[in-house]
Amino acid sequence: MLRTHTCGELRAENVNETVSLCGWAQKIRDKGGMIWIDLRDRYGITQLIFDESKTSAEIISLARIIGREYVIQIEGKVIDRFSKNANIPTGDIEIFVDKILILNKSKVPPFTIEDDTDGGEDLRMKYRYLDLRRKPLRDSMLLKHQIMQQTKNYFNKINFIEVETPILIKSTPEGARDFLVPSRINSGQFYALPQSPQTFKQLLMVSGFDRYFQIVKCFRDEDLRADRQPEFTQIDCEMSFVTQEDILETFEGMMKHLFKKVKGIDLEKFPVMPYEEALKKYGSDKPDTRFEMTFIELNDIIVGKGFNVFDQAELVVGINVKGEAGRSRKQLDEIIDFVKRPQIGAKGLVYLKYNEDGTIRSSVDKFYTPEDLSKWVTAFDATPGDLMLILAGEIDPTRKALSELRLKMGSETGLRDKNKYSPLWVVDFPLLEWDDESNRFHAMHHPFTSPKLDQLNLLDSDPGNLNANAYDMVINGVELGGGSIRIHDREVQQKMFKVLGCTEEEAKNQFWFLLEAFEYGAPPHGGIAFGFDRICALFGGTDSIRDYIAFPKNNSGRDIMIDTPSPISNDQLKELHIKLSE
Ligand code: ASP
Repeated sequence: MLRTHTCGELRAENVNETVSLCGWAQKIRDKGGMIWIDLRDRYGITQLIFDESKTSAEIISLARIIGREYVIQIEGKVIDRFSKNANIPTGDIEIFVDKILILNKSKVPPFTIEDDTDGGEDLRMKYRYLDLRRKPLRDSMLLKHQIMQQTKNYFNKINFIEVETPILIKSTPEGARDFLVPSRINSGQFYALPQSPQTFKQLLMVSGFDRYFQIVKCFRDEDLRADRQPEFTQIDCEMSFVTQEDILETFEGMMKHLFKKVKGIDLEKFPVMPYEEALKKYGSDKPDTRFEMTFIELNDIIVGKGFNVFDQAELVVGINVKGEAGRSRKQLDEIIDFVKRPQIGAKGLVYLKYNEDGTIRSSVDKFYTPEDLSKWVTAFDATPGDLMLILAGEIDPTRKALSELRLKMGSETGLRDKNKYSPLWVVDFPLLEWDDESNRFHAMHHPFTSPKLDQLNLLDSDPGNLNANAYDMVINGVELGGGSIRIHDREVQQKMFKVLGCTEEEAKNQFWFLLEAFEYGAPPHGGIAFGFDRICALFGGTDSIRDYIAFPKNNSGRDIMIDTPSPISNDQLKELHIKLSE
C-alpha cells in the first residue's frame, strides 16, 4: 500500500504517529512562511502543513510545485492542529510533512472541486469524472450503493433470486418509444432495448422461479425531465401464487427495510387509497400526502347565483390554504398568473379570504351574498385567517390544475418537508384509457395487467369500465413503483390484445412466445418495478435523479463527456445495411 491511512481517518488519538497518505491536492494556501494543502481522497480531507522555519528547503520547494488536483503521496507526523476545524472529522489534527512524492500532475481543473463549485452544469457534465470527485456526488453514489446492498439483503432473506434478462430483445410495450439496435448478421432486422424486463420476468414465473428480482437497466426513448433519463435502473420483481395483498405486503416490507437500514426511520403501515379517491381528493394518482389541503367540491352550494363560470362548470373545486388570508392583492394576482400558465391551463381563479376579523371577502362578491359565502367557509371547514382558492371547469383538467396549485401552496407554506415521509399505495386503477387521437384504448399500465377477476365478463361488453389489479407505491407525491397481477391465461391475454386494437396477426408476431408459454402451465403471478434512481433521489432529498447516475445524459439525451450519440462511419453503416436519407 502506498498509504498507512486514508484522508478521512486520522484523529487527535493519532497525534505523534508517523503516517503516509495519498490523495489529491484540493486547496493550497501559501502564506509565505507557511503552506497548507488540503489533501483529499474518497474518505475525507486531511490538512498538510509545511513550515519554512522547520521543514527542509527541498520539501518546501516541492510543495510549491504542487497545483490543484495533483496526486501526491506524503509521509509525516500527525500533530495537534493550531486552529481546529469542527466542520470536518479530521479537523483536530494536521500532518507535518517530511517526505513528498508527486505521483501525477494535473492540469488546472475547469471548475473548483469542492462541495460548492463554481462550475456550471454543462461544464460539470463534460468533466463528470472530476465532478464525481466532489463530496456531494460521491455521497450520492455511496447512498445508491447502500440502497442497492440493502435491497439485495432484503430479497435474499425472503427467497428471491436475482436472474439476469437480456438487453437485446423485442419491443416491450411500456408506453414509450423503443431504442433500436440494428443486427449486422440479420440484415434489415433490429433488436429493441428493453423498456423493462416485463415479459421475461413473466416467463421466469412460467419456468417456476417463483420469486425473482433484478436491479436492471431499462431504456425508454422519451422526452427527458428531472426524474427521467433514457436509461435508468429499476428494481424489478415478480412473484407466483400470490394475491395483490401479498404483493403489497412484500414490497411495503422492502421499502420499510430500506428506510430503517439506510435512514434509520420506522415507517408506519402504508395506507391504501383507491385511484378514484386520489383524484377526487388530490387531483392526482400520485398524491403528496405529507399535507392535507384536500379538494372540496362546491358544485352543490354555488350554482344558481348568476355567476356563469361556476354555473356552467362540470366541477367547481377548491382548497383551503390555512392561515394565508393575509396575502396581498399582488400576491393573489401571482397565484392567478400561475394557474393561467399554459402548463397549468386554468382560465382563472376565484379566491375567498376569511379574514382574521371574521369578515369574508371574495373575488366574486358581486354574485354571492355574505350568507352564500359563509356556506363556502363551512364547506371548507375554514377558520379566520384562511384563504380558499377555487377553480372551475371540466373535471379532469380542473383537478389537474388544482393539484399543481395545491403542490405550489404546499411548498410555499412549508408543508412539503423533505424530512417527512408519507407513503401510500394507490390501487384500483382503470385497466384502459381511451385515446382520442388513435381512437382506441391504451393499457393504462401495460397489456399484461389483469382486470379484476370478478369483472372479466366486461372484457367483451364494456372494457372501458374495467378496473385493473394494479397498484402504485407513492411517497411524497413521487410514484416510486408500480405493478400488477398479470393475466396468466392465454385466452384472456389474447382478448386483451384485441381490446387494445392489436390484430391477431400483430399479437402473434410480437408476443407469440408469451401466448405460447401460457399454454404450458403458467402459474398465477404478479409483480412490481421500482424506479431505483427515484428512490435514491427521495432518500437523498433532491429532485433530480441525475445526481444518482454516475454518467447521466443531459436534457437532450446526450452524454457530453463521451460526446454521444454521434455519427458512425460509412463502413459501419454498410455492414449494418443501413442507408441514411441525408
Ligand atoms: N414493467 C412495469 C414497469 O416498468 C412494472 C411491472 O408491471 O412490474 O412499469
